[in-house]
Amino acid sequence: MDKKLLDILVCPICKADLVFLESQDELVCRADKLAFPVRDGIPVMLEVEARRISIEEYDALPKKTALVD
Ligand SMILES: [Zn+2]
Repeated sequence: MDKKLLDILVCPICKADLVFLESQDELVCRADKLAFPVRDGIPVMLEVEARRISIEEYDALPKKTALVD
């Protein structure tokens, strides 16, 4: 996914920065504990499409905003 796009993307619900999980192609909002899918490189920033992450997944989230350099 385009890094520039990642920089400007925020959670559609709370406007917080998102964590990009490259291995899963998901953008995660820590505050809402929701994972938004990235389909064919296009982030789907819709609450109805988002997946609620588990406590285990939340604990495993990187501290940085993005995994990509
Ligand atoms: Zn949020």
